[in-house]
Amino acid sequence: MERTLSIIKPDGVQKSLVGQVISVFENAGIRIAALKMRRLSRSEAEGFYYVHKDRPFFGELVEFMISGAVVIMVLEGQNVISRNREIMGATDPKEAAPGTIRARWADTKQNNIVHGSDSPETAKFEIGYFFSSIEIC
Ligand code: ATP
Ligand code: MG
Repeated sequence: MERTLSIIKPDGVQKSLVGQVISVFENAGIRIAALKMRRLSRSEAEGFYYVHKDRPFFGELVEFMISGAVVIMVLEGQNVISRNREIMGATDPKEAAPGTIRARWADTKQNNIVHGSDSPETAKFEIGYFFSSIEIC
């Protein structure tokens, strides 16, 4: 059993896709182990995307992530880190495989509906960033 962090980004919440995105995960046999809705502060968003701090799109990415509420979840299942990445699709919706969340609903490479941890190390950091152990069911 593995855990990963998923975020429905502000565009997903704005487009009323919370229920549909959660259904995609549940229909794939993935369990929601924790869930909260938050509006991130600037420093929370900057800390979360710290690995991208030197990338040219960092400032815009932070602005986007604080532009509205997000839904933050811990997903649980076998190989859930890579399975979630497959279910999300490529970062750029133009390159995302048909049927993936980003192919179905994302508008741009930045406004791409969901975030998902990309490795076990990242998942551990990202889950701990938003959830304490007693919040994970
Ligand atoms: P995420 O980390 O959000 O799950 P990802 O792992 O597919 O997405 P990363 O390379 O980690 O993609 O980039 C993090 C986020 O930064 C992307 O999801 C997207 O919102 C934004 N981003 C990435 N590359 C670009 C770009 N070239 N222009 C604008 N925004 C970008
Ligand atoms: Mg990433």
